[in-house]
Amino acid sequence: MLKIAKYPQAILRKTAKPISDFNAELKKLAVAMAEVMFADDGIGLAGPQVSQSQRIIVVGDGKGDHYDVYVNPEITFASKEKDTSEEGCLSLPGIFGNVSRPKKIHVKYQDLDGKVVKEKVKGLKAIVIQHEVDHLDGILFIDRAQKITKGQDILDTLKK
Ligand SMILES: [Zn+2]
Repeated sequence: MLKIAKYPQAILRKTAKPISDFNAELKKLAVAMAEVMFADDGIGLAGPQVSQSQRIIVVGDGKGDHYDVYVNPEITFASKEKDTSEEGCLSLPGIFGNVSRPKKIHVKYQDLDGKVVKEKVKGLKAIVIQHEVDHLDGILFIDRAQKITKGQDILDTLKK
């Protein structure tokens, strides 16, 4: 099983590279990422979190074992209207914080065969996609949190 990169590992701060080869290896990576995500009860995971500096994210729905894969995702629209929710991250275990993000987004991405897809997303999925796309740009939710709600002590220790 793939290992999750934990804060403050440097890979989490790197900008991930666009994917151009839609090969069997990429499909294998997506499956392996979903496996790790479900094993750790996550609802989203980005390439850098498994030490792969590639623009791929997997997003679950928090219920069953269904997941969606977004390759080279780009947020092409974000609503002015925002919502604040408590976020956590598999790379920052035990730490949670309130983050304000646009409520509705449009995301343009490629599927595992390289086909370009456009999707309108709202609710929890919109939050997860924004959190994961941030990972591809080296941004963590603690950078955006107005308030750390749990684990400030853990974060202080890690920052030292
Ligand atoms: Zn995360």
